Amino acid sequence: MSVEILDGKLFANEIQNEVKAEVEKMRKEGKIPGLGVVLVGNDPASQVYVKNKSEACANVGIFAETIRLPQDTTEEKLLEKIDELNKDNRFHGILVQLPLPKQIDEKRILERISPLKDVDGFHPLNVGRLTQGIPYLVPCTPAGIMEIFRRKNIELKGKEAVVIGRSDIVGKPMALLLLHSHATVTICHSRTLDLPSVSRRADILVVAIGKPEFVTAEYVKKGAVVIDVGINRVKLKEPIIGKDGKLKDSKLVGDVKFDEVKEIAGAITPVPGGVGPLTIAMLLLNTIKAAKTQITY
Ligand code: NAD
Repeated sequence: MSVEILDGKLFANEIQNEVKAEVEKMRKEGKIPGLGVVLVGNDPASQVYVKNKSEACANVGIFAETIRLPQDTTEEKLLEKIDELNKDNRFHGILVQLPLPKQIDEKRILERISPLKDVDGFHPLNVGRLTQGIPYLVPCTPAGIMEIFRRKNIELKGKEAVVIGRSDIVGKPMALLLLHSHATVTICHSRTLDLPSVSRRADILVVAIGKPEFVTAEYVKKGAVVIDVGINRVKLKEPIIGKDGKLKDSKLVGDVKFDEVKEIAGAITPVPGGVGPLTIAMLLLNTIKAAKTQITY
């Protein structure tokens, strides 16, 4: 049986069309969902992420504003800005682009965002709700992965799921979502012993470690569904001409060695074009969810 490539762009387009239709309906009722995006400093990757998020909002009719603050912004200044956005009823969602400059305590900032407006789902209250199985706003990347399972009718109940990576952004919420879907879940991390033998148990394998092409064929059981969350830019030995005709000296790869693992897996997400596009689509979905909760007229 040949491997199925799980096309994240396709699902992301489906979700964006659904959100667009919903926003049109809301706008007819005079309800305009709004997202405030805070970008501190000039990290090039963050600039690209923020631009993509704003464009995605514009495409579906969500009002979005990017608030840019300098690299040397103090924690107090950023907290003040968040207090302002919490009170501003044009914004139903607030997103602070991570990572933040080192003088700022990320946890303190994320806790200051109103849990009602916390479209990234990182506030302790939203984390607690997810843990208890009464989710409100769920982190976008794992929520997007659940959409892949749902839209492809991939059964999770009773399955062995292994999540490699235990970050607050991906690994932990992913494990909780799988657990609530009745999978038997194992979480692995940098100190897990004999990782390949644990990971080979997985019917569903989610990899989020940030190590280029780390997971090879020996980590994967035949027929497993492999979800590659990693986004890593690696230097090419020799430059190539990209789709846009320009010369490129680097490319994006996942945490999974795609060419090798696709020979064993039953289904696999590519990088790019797998999990990435779904993350943005879920941000849009979270924003209209937050708007619907807050606009009560
Ligand atoms: P992180 O650095 O916060 O966490 C990495 C986790 O991997 C840690 O829990 C660590 O214990 C584990 N780990 C590291 N080395 C390991 C090893 N050798 N063996 C087993 N476990 C190991 O990273 P993150 O924020 O969870 O992101 C992971 C990757 O996913 C990154 O490449 C990131 O760019 C990508 N990412 C993609 C999206 C998306 O939209 N597709 C969203 C978020 C993160």
